[in-house]
Amino acid sequence: MQQQNFDLHCHSNVSDGVLPPADLVARAADCGVTVLALTDHDDVAGLPAAQLAAQTLGLRLINGVEISVTWGTHTLHVLGLDIDPESAELVAGLTMIRAGRGERAIKMAEQLAKVGIPDSLAGAYQYAGNKNSIGRMHFARYMVEQGVAKDVRSIFKRFLVKGKPGYVPHQWADLAQAVGWIRASGGRAILAHPGRYPMGDGKMQELLLLFKACGGEGIEVVTGSHTVEHYAQFARLAKKFDLLSSRGSDFHAPDEGYRDLGRLPQLPDICTPVWHDWTV
Ligand code: AMP
Ligand code: MN
Ligand code: MN
Ligand code: MN
Repeated sequence: MQQQNFDLHCHSNVSDGVLPPADLVARAADCGVTVLALTDHDDVAGLPAAQLAAQTLGLRLINGVEISVTWGTHTLHVLGLDIDPESAELVAGLTMIRAGRGERAIKMAEQLAKVGIPDSLAGAYQYAGNKNSIGRMHFARYMVEQGVAKDVRSIFKRFLVKGKPGYVPHQWADLAQAVGWIRASGGRAILAHPGRYPMGDGKMQELLLLFKACGGEGIEVVTGSHTVEHYAQFARLAKKFDLLSSRGSDFHAPDEGYRDLGRLPQLPDICTPVWHDWTV
């Protein structure tokens, strides 16, 4: 049997990736991915075009989404895998959380203007394939174009993260809500890139317990922003809390750092993959 290459986390220009869904799927096929989940932020609008492309190219496309969540002072991301994109409950939930993005963008632009970066609202919108999904990445790309810094990573560090001049706090979905929408649509809820949340081990374990109690079923272990140490740490935590493990690049764009589609190590042997009971 052919060795499968699962990439269960990536973005198209429906959210803050740069490639249209069909081009993203074509790139995944070129990179050797055999099972791909498209997981745009808070939106499922790219899935029909991605499914069509996947059929043509002979790879399996899993319907996915990445939901933004506010948990206390933390912003978390929860992946929904194998969701039904037409689920009324999910669609209503996603529409609700996307609604705040426009207002937030206006405030971000006002703050950036005060530190000498004018016209960023119009600039950011030029980079947004989907005007409803305007977000920090679109601002970052515009600011790189303007020569404010050399790459998006430096822009985030200097302007767009907590405590920096272009950062606007925002209230996203709550954890139980997001997991509930995913489950209502028949999907599996997976905590995305846990290694990126600024919290100690005790708080992380508290989060995993709560996530499980809400109906969460797994965590990302191997993902673009994780280090080798994270792979081991979260494989252990997945085992300890009896959670499934996932693997995904979190690809957004060629040449923006991180990993290309499917170009990741395999899950550690102690993990039970989120796909263990899928027929692919
Ligand atoms: P938003 O949903 O508008 O708050 O944007 C969040 C997105 O910004 C994430 O999904 C990443 O694509 C990107 N992002 C967040 N933090 C960073 C960072 N430190 N460096 C690069 N990109 C980041
Ligand atoms: Mn993103
Ligand atoms: Mn994320
Ligand atoms: Mn992502």
